[in-house]
Amino acid sequence: MSDEYASSVDYRAFFDHAPGLFLVLTPELRIVAVTNEYLAATMTRREAILGRHIFDVFPDNPDDKTADGTSNLRASLARVLATGAPDTMAVQKYDVRGSDGAFQIKYWSPKNVPLLSAAGAVRFVIHRVEDVTDLVRAAELGDELRGRTSDMEREVLARSRELASANRALRHANEQLAQLDKAKSAFFNNISHEFRTPLTLMLGPLEDAQASPDRALRSDALDMVHRNAQRLLRLVNSLLDFARLEAGQLKVAFEPVDISADTAYLASEFRWAVERTGIQLDVDCPPLPAPVYVDPTLWEKIVLNLLSNALKFTSEGRIRVALRWHDERVELSVSDTGIGISAEHLPRIFERFHRVEGASSRTHEGTGIGLALVHELVTLHGGQVRVDSAPGVGSTFFVSLPTGNAHLPAERVSSRVSARPPRSTSAPHG
Ligand code: ADP
Repeated sequence: MSDEYASSVDYRAFFDHAPGLFLVLTPELRIVAVTNEYLAATMTRREAILGRHIFDVFPDNPDDKTADGTSNLRASLARVLATGAPDTMAVQKYDVRGSDGAFQIKYWSPKNVPLLSAAGAVRFVIHRVEDVTDLVRAAELGDELRGRTSDMEREVLARSRELASANRALRHANEQLAQLDKAKSAFFNNISHEFRTPLTLMLGPLEDAQASPDRALRSDALDMVHRNAQRLLRLVNSLLDFARLEAGQLKVAFEPVDISADTAYLASEFRWAVERTGIQLDVDCPPLPAPVYVDPTLWEKIVLNLLSNALKFTSEGRIRVALRWHDERVELSVSDTGIGISAEHLPRIFERFHRVEGASSRTHEGTGIGLALVHELVTLHGGQVRVDSAPGVGSTFFVSLPTGNAHLPAERVSSRVSARPPRSTSAPHG
């Protein structure tokens, strides 16, 4: 019965329909059998390839110089023919020509198995391939996706880092705003006090005078009213300066000035007020080799602010004003033997509205804008201001300005010296 079946079995048809990609080759590498699946995968027709040499049918893609699938297959088949042993090849990249003549890329995992005669000679070689194109593509896609995912991860990390630093900057800005807000409230407190004190000191003598029979001010009361009116004027002027500066509306005109004579004059205006308190005033402003480009009105404000602070915070000893020429720079120093400034406050001393709480000063006058104004004005001149100070020993403020005018905006520089009202050295300050 089995014989009967065996004689009627069409092995050729079985082979043609076998589920897989198979070719059968003669030892000369001619194709003698091929499965339908192989034909479909290579887009060839059985009658077009049977009896032909495998490498005539499947040559390397001449446009792809790196194609080595054919030579690898040739070497593998040669090994099988020589050894009579099966040979499994690594995954090969083939350019398989389709029915339209165009090459398509296929990844095949081929195995060549010999079919031996009883004597052990190779009669046929069964060439079997597994199409792993989809697998390779999926792996490539996986790699690409992995690459893209890690790119995205990197991007997300970078963005979140940027976000964190923006948040930090925002928090910092917020803290600064809150501090400024606090300082501003303190400023308004101070300023009301600053206005009220001289007004009270003026109203007292004025009301006394009104109530007196001759309705006249006594001479010491007259001086007091005058002094306090001047104090109010100074206060209003410095507030206006500050507001203008903040609004960028301060008009600045630089001109060549003999700041040695100017500074000595400004210091001399202070002499009366300083010496009246028993403090010694040293002025060391030797003639300088060249005029210095400053705005004379602003230079005056710088010097007077530093001097009045020195006087305000010094109860004994001396105040010294000095000018030194260092070729590229000129340096003003105003030093005192006053209360000094603690290390804690030093870094913030030039911030607007910053005052040292509880600092004992000669007068209670103060708004916390004097040094901020000095700082801004010196910066406008392209210079720097710094302070050396030790509590209980004293403070020295240094203002350093570049010499020449190359550092200043040309449109604000004039070579002419402006006509200023003549100054009398006898007028006392304050
Ligand atoms: P204020 O109107 O309060 O004087 P400033 O801006 O001029 O404002 O000064 C700010 C603070 O710096 C002062 O309140 C004081 O505490 C401190 N300060 C300034 N100059 C001196 C100085 N020469 N000696 C000691 N402390 C000073």
